[in-house]
Amino acid sequence: MGHKMEFTRRGVMLVLASPSGAGKSSISRALFEDDPNIALSVSVTTRARRTDEIEGKHYHFVDVTTFKRMQEDGELLESAQVHGNFYGTPRAKVEERLSSGRDILFDIDYQGTLQLYEKCRADMVTIFILPPSIKELRRRLERRAQDSVGTIEKRLRNARKEMDHYREYDYVLVNEDLEDSTSRVRTILAAARLERSRFLQLDNFVSDLQNQIDSLPKTEG
Ligand code: 5GP
Repeated sequence: MGHKMEFTRRGVMLVLASPSGAGKSSISRALFEDDPNIALSVSVTTRARRTDEIEGKHYHFVDVTTFKRMQEDGELLESAQVHGNFYGTPRAKVEERLSSGRDILFDIDYQGTLQLYEKCRADMVTIFILPPSIKELRRRLERRAQDSVGTIEKRLRNARKEMDHYREYDYVLVNEDLEDSTSRVRTILAAARLERSRFLQLDNFVSDLQNQIDSLPKTEG
């Protein structure tokens, strides 16, 4: 026979969460670079666009009225208010990607993660990323320099609260070195892709193996 068994698998919902500045975006970027099977779930947000952000790539930027309408119409799989702005995950693309065996990366906070746990725990693998120190976290936030000093302070205070939630995640990584952290995320994703629950044809495959045993000619003794 010599052919390789190929099962169709369901996609992975990979959630990366961390306080702003812990390195989540850099890890995601590195992940996308060499893995065409995973793409970012592009959220809608009411936050103002930063100068380096592209509509439709980083976020869909919407006003509060549009956001509320999407929420009421059930277009969002989860939603939350973070740092005073609204964020949400559009539902439509998620199921389409998962059922065609493609993976999705979610850059969402713990409130959104908890909502997704309620709806689709079996599809999810979640990772919480911590900064190696607060000095480093502040340095990364300042280097980004997109936000005002007040915003940086607000994000630091928010980081403290966000850190309370590390226990709600499957894995925790301390992001000291980008390459090392990215490699760990790749390993987690590789294992998640192999989980039994993703292989929908396994029942049939095993039944078929069993039927083949059942139909073997009976031998005496
Ligand atoms: P930022 O404004 O820095 O892009 O994101 C702020 C926070 O909002 C981050 O912790 C990010 O993970 C979170 N966030 C972004 N999009 C979503 C979303 O669709 N849902 C939820 N619950 N959080 C989000």
